[in-house]
Amino acid sequence: MTFKQLVADQKTYFNTLVTRDIQWRKTQLRQIKKMVQENEQRFLDVLSEDLGKPSLESWMTEVSYVAGDVDHVIKRLNKWSKKRRVSTPIVAQPGRSYIHPEPLGSVLIIGAWNYPVQLVLAPLVAAISAGNCAIIKPSELAPATSALLASLVPQYLDSNAISVVEGAVDETTALLALPFDHIMYTGNGQVARIIMAAAAKNLTPVTLELGGKSPVFVDRSADINISAQRIAWGKWLNAGQTCIAPDYVMVEHSLLPAFITALKKQLQTMFGTNPKVSKSYGRIVNQRHCERIASYLTSGDIVHGGDIDIDERYISPTIVVDPDLDSPLMTEEIFGAILPIITVQNFEAAKATVVTRDKPLAAYLFTRDKTQEQQWLNEISSGSLCVNDVIMFNAVPDLPFGGVGPSGMGQYSGKAGFDNFSHLKSVLKRPFLKDLPVRFAPFTALKFKLLKLIRHL
Ligand code: NAD
Repeated sequence: MTFKQLVADQKTYFNTLVTRDIQWRKTQLRQIKKMVQENEQRFLDVLSEDLGKPSLESWMTEVSYVAGDVDHVIKRLNKWSKKRRVSTPIVAQPGRSYIHPEPLGSVLIIGAWNYPVQLVLAPLVAAISAGNCAIIKPSELAPATSALLASLVPQYLDSNAISVVEGAVDETTALLALPFDHIMYTGNGQVARIIMAAAAKNLTPVTLELGGKSPVFVDRSADINISAQRIAWGKWLNAGQTCIAPDYVMVEHSLLPAFITALKKQLQTMFGTNPKVSKSYGRIVNQRHCERIASYLTSGDIVHGGDIDIDERYISPTIVVDPDLDSPLMTEEIFGAILPIITVQNFEAAKATVVTRDKPLAAYLFTRDKTQEQQWLNEISSGSLCVNDVIMFNAVPDLPFGGVGPSGMGQYSGKAGFDNFSHLKSVLKRPFLKDLPVRFAPFTALKFKLLKLIRHL
């Protein structure tokens, strides 16, 4: 079947109203959970094949993440899909006003390779919860995962409404020419521009989940060991290939030795003396990305790691101190196992470093200082903010997830996901009671006065 036919068939099915039924939505959502749970080992295996992901990590960030997402959504779906009453001002009285969430139609979900299960299934959960049909296009850079999804989805979900299309640029380009009702893309900013330009041709709205350099500042008031443990976890999870991974850390000069010592201690505890043989440490997705990351090691002092094996797609946890701020390590999103530490004069200098760059997807702060916390919150624009931890805000389903400016547009997770894939239709209903004549012509001075009076009531 051609892609054109696939989308046309989805739209015909959508018009039968089947997907609007809350029970249909819940059944599909339960089937997603069943799919990941019944095939847990297969998912862990393909994730290991594609990214060398340790099983516990895959389970925590992919399989159980999706299952938990389904539970969260099913529990709240009745409430989210109900009409949302709003008050009606005197000028529209008597009357009742409400917002009616309605599904959009057929949506396209394009995933990235770094969390190749979560990044297509969590948006799919949101799209189905809102009553849509969907085509998911997993990343071709995680081919084993893509193939598994393509084989399992038709076995578990209603194929009239949900399909998987596998492929790379050509297939995605062909899909993008079709009149979807919404497109959600996860990936890099360059391709996002292509997606948005293609969507513009059909006036299709987009959600763009992008990346960037998520900064961290560790203040002297922070607990250094706990900070180092959390930062090391978040940086080297999935070998650094996480969109909300801490990209670089800023500390004051005086804190640098203690912070490096604490980080090294955590790395030793987590991955041992040779992370290459650790069962808890992953691999870079492919040799091209491995070479890209390795090429960043041109500036600054390597104080830990720096071991690279391109054939094995391995980069050891690496710490670089004070690279040039205009070197690729500090201008590009690293998206890999290198952590630059930048020494700064003080908190003000750290803030200035962040605000002169693109708005990040996440901004992190480790401190006990409440004034700093308020300033980081109020003066830095970022998709999300996490105080005294990294990444974990993504484990809170009621917190919307998404970027701002170059780090993305639109949000999902929980109710934000439901709303993202819904049109929030405004409704006003009025009874057939005779109106005051003020808004009807002929307009007189008295009517004008009365209207002004009513407006100010
Ligand atoms: P990728 O290479 O898997 O590309 C993403 C998708 O875009 C794929 O499905 C691919 O087929 C498609 N694609 C690639 N080139 C295309 C083109 N020319 N036309 C149409 N489609 C095309 O992933 P990536 O871009 O390397 O992902 C890494 C980036 O994604 C990083 O910047 C990371 O921060 C970001 N990311 C963001 C999130 C988030 O939720 N905000 C999550 C994961 C990754």
